[in-house]
Amino acid sequence: MDYDKIKYTVYAIYTKCEITELPFNCLDMINRKGYECKKYSQLTPIKYQACMELSADSCMIGNVIYYNDKKSARRIRFSLMHELGHIELDTENETEANLFASNILCPSIALYFARISNIREISNLFNISLECAKYAKEFYEKWLYSVKTYGMTDIDRKLYQHFYKDDIRQFIFKESQCIYCDNIIYNSNKPICSKCDKPPAENEASGPPSPTDFLIAESSWLYHGI
Ligand SMILES: [Zn+2]
Ligand SMILES: [Zn+2]
Repeated sequence: MDYDKIKYTVYAIYTKCEITELPFNCLDMINRKGYECKKYSQLTPIKYQACMELSADSCMIGNVIYYNDKKSARRIRFSLMHELGHIELDTENETEANLFASNILCPSIALYFARISNIREISNLFNISLECAKYAKEFYEKWLYSVKTYGMTDIDRKLYQHFYKDDIRQFIFKESQCIYCDNIIYNSNKPICSKCDKPPAENEASGPPSPTDFLIAESSWLYHGI
């Protein structure tokens, strides 16, 4: 298994399609790569049957990726990336296509900066299935061991640079705003920043919240569309 080839291919796609945020829109990205996607539900009964016989999830005929749109969104994302892996790596190997999918959806270096290890949290942050999250975590653990033992490789450095934001000098793949204080939250899907997420005992040091605090909190919820 050529892990470096998989990572270089992922990097080439991130660069070409200008993907600097995770999770990204898979259908958009495939279109930007110049491939066509078709839903199983839009096929004629004969074509539908043929696709289902190839796979209940997705298949590729020519340069068209067909996917079963009745499956869950997270499973579809994996299937689409699996098929793209077959095309981009020019391989029929299923394990390689799976590795490609897990690496492009949840690269080890991003998982490192997410600072999470729980499968469910990984699945939610990267919008991937639990199965894919488990796979990504296993790959990440091997990667981390290798980085700790031998240091970062050339492709690790390229991926690091790709997501590195010069102005804040950090590896950033996701930004959002705290619903309470408007602080920017990096690499997380928590709605509240770490400053506001303190246990009640620490927050209530200055006494119970005043009605004004409630009003501020309420308008924050209203105006941030949550
Ligand atoms: Zn396959
Ligand atoms: Zn906050």
